[in-house]
Amino acid sequence: MQKRTIRDVAWAGKHALVRCDFNVPLDDKGAITDDTRIRASLPTIQYLLDHGAAVILCSHLGRPKGKVVESMRLTPVAARLSELLNRPVLKLNDCIGPEVQASCHAAQPGDIILLENLRFYNQEEANDPDFSQKLADLADIYVNDAFGTAHRAHASTAGVASYLPAVAGFLLEKEIEFLGNAVNNPKRPFVAILGGAKISDKIGVIQNLLTKADFLLIGGGMANTFLKAKGYEMGDSLVEESSVELAQDLLAQGNGKLVIPVDVVVANAFSADATHQVVAVDAIDPGWRVLDIGPATIKLFDAKIAAAATIVWNGPMGVFEMAPFATGTFAVAKALAASGALTIIGGGDSVAAVEQAGLADKMTHISTGGGASLEFLEGLELPGVAALNDK
Ligand code: ADP
Ligand code: MG
Repeated sequence: MQKRTIRDVAWAGKHALVRCDFNVPLDDKGAITDDTRIRASLPTIQYLLDHGAAVILCSHLGRPKGKVVESMRLTPVAARLSELLNRPVLKLNDCIGPEVQASCHAAQPGDIILLENLRFYNQEEANDPDFSQKLADLADIYVNDAFGTAHRAHASTAGVASYLPAVAGFLLEKEIEFLGNAVNNPKRPFVAILGGAKISDKIGVIQNLLTKADFLLIGGGMANTFLKAKGYEMGDSLVEESSVELAQDLLAQGNGKLVIPVDVVVANAFSADATHQVVAVDAIDPGWRVLDIGPATIKLFDAKIAAAATIVWNGPMGVFEMAPFATGTFAVAKALAASGALTIIGGGDSVAAVEQAGLADKMTHISTGGGASLEFLEGLELPGVAALNDK
């Protein structure tokens, strides 16, 4: 990687300001329902502690929109972090200001401080230079380990790097290496699998991957617009009329790289107990809607997956939240798990589907950032990565 990481810093006696992604789901009693993101931050924190740094952690949680929202305090995160690290974590009730600064400056090697939710201030998302400077005043070196917000230029993800030496944590490094190598330096054949509801969300991703991948397998709702572009009747399926022409262009540009469904599961309503059946793509009747890929398509995709050396997957193949329409998505997850390829999963719903299938530990890399991984696949430079110091 071209960026400096925490391995490139002599930490003894230094104060590290670490931007984490502690945006964890909470239930209505304020208890953490999934601590994956907290656990994912431990290697970086542990490394800094082991190398003699005082560790000052910061994150956002939810969308407080620039004011203090009691239910969005980071207090439960501090408690969980303390349990996981088996050491005290000093939780502060603010993230900037003289008192916060005094506590941070007093921190000794091995101490851990967690600042309050950064988004209690509007200046965070506005990437306000004064706010960035105040964050920078708390420490000697900045560490970005929050891949999930690396596609945003906020004070704590980008701005602060103007005022401090800035390096990547292990989590950010891992994401950049896996996604970066897969897209820019893949072992071939490189197969990308794209699905999800809408083509319009992922046009940039399709365009970029068309120039990089050997095959693009298209499923999910977005495949409907491609099928429509090929002239098929789509009944009541989700079709983005405004993108049909673009889909036509992409098919032409793709020159055989784009693989779209040959059969589909159609239902007579958008409901788990709707009547459903498998039909060829040229046999979709009025009143029916496509909710999954069909068995012949699964076979077609399986063959491409089995022959691949690198696979990137974003977007479910159907409405997998309803059991009758989850077959295609789970079949793809199984095919990835069984393949010898390097497998990378990005996107919130795709990751959820792989976890639901019980196959998460069979994948090479599961990205922690939905939006950020999509922008990466689009070939965009992430502001939170760009802001870090080069090696
Ligand atoms: P990700 O979060 O992995 O990036 P998206 O958010 O783009 O994925 O898409 C996921 C959603 O797409 C799911 O809620 C799923 O139900 C929906 N979807 C998939 N196939 C279809 C389809 N044929 N018709 C309507 N919605 C679909
Ligand atoms: Mg999603």
